[in-house]
Amino acid sequence: MIAQSPGITNIRAYVSPRGGSEAHAFAQSKAKPVHSIAPVPRRIDAEARAVNFAAATELDSRKESHSDMNDWLNVLVRKRIAKARANGETLPPEMAWVAEHDHQVYVKRFKPLVWVVLALCAFGLAQTTQPLALVATAVFFYFYIDFYSGVLHVVLDNPQFVKLPLIGVPCVEFQWHHTFPFDISTRRLFDVWGDLNVLLIAKSVFLFGICGFTTTTFMVAAVGYAWGYANQLSHRLTHTAPRQRPKLATWMQENGVLLEPSVHHAHHVDHTVSFPVLNGRSRGLIQRMLGVVPNGYPWLVLFVLLTAFDLVAVVWCIEWIWG
Ligand SMILES: [Zn+2]
Ligand SMILES: [Zn+2]
Repeated sequence: MIAQSPGITNIRAYVSPRGGSEAHAFAQSKAKPVHSIAPVPRRIDAEARAVNFAAATELDSRKESHSDMNDWLNVLVRKRIAKARANGETLPPEMAWVAEHDHQVYVKRFKPLVWVVLALCAFGLAQTTQPLALVATAVFFYFYIDFYSGVLHVVLDNPQFVKLPLIGVPCVEFQWHHTFPFDISTRRLFDVWGDLNVLLIAKSVFLFGICGFTTTTFMVAAVGYAWGYANQLSHRLTHTAPRQRPKLATWMQENGVLLEPSVHHAHHVDHTVSFPVLNGRSRGLIQRMLGVVPNGYPWLVLFVLLTAFDLVAVVWCIEWIWG
């Protein structure tokens, strides 16, 4: 189970009716001590670390000083770690890992791949000859991607997985979102979509490798990846100040089409609840599953199996039903 780490950031800063302020959110977060996430807290010993975070106090943390928001967020990361070290605080695993490896938590993603995915989505939708199968797939993925995002979130929030190969870095990046919830609404949308680059490459290898380059395969990839991008956008919108949210997005949130901000902000108060981020409809199911099997390696196995074979299974179902 992931221990609770409540209150790191004052969530009122980004659910405020006035829209809140990212800088204010950071100021609030700085005013509070860093809470440890059990069960593997560790103390940073200055002499044992190669990276000199003391210099972080010299860094310019004014948002307007940075043209790339990734750079600004990385400054906030360094200052946060420097402050914790100066106070001799115990760091949660994702912070300790970054301090130890001098890792850049926020990076520019490879945008051409995002364009390729968007083109694949357009191609996959345009070339299908089975409109009924397309509609059924779209409806199925609306619910399934919410569930999948919940499983992914449970796994990447696990502090015990920070040191694992392959998913360790995604875990680190995911868990920093708890410290700076406004990161996802501050970075460019193409960077947020680009966070899925490696995941979508992995899924494509299994999907096209097993099912081939058929019209059904392209259609399933198109619908699945489109909902994957919608999932990222939905999470982003829950952290977007109301005055900056498109009216349509607000309407969709208020009517349950997309995830309601208040539902997601519950996760930022208690990191053990409300994991799905597309529409939140599967959060009850995820919670019941966590009640039976606490967060741990069985969830990692489930995530790997779904990542490899979920789209393949959908292709097989479509071919079975529609021939
Ligand atoms: Zn989380
Ligand atoms: Zn969030």
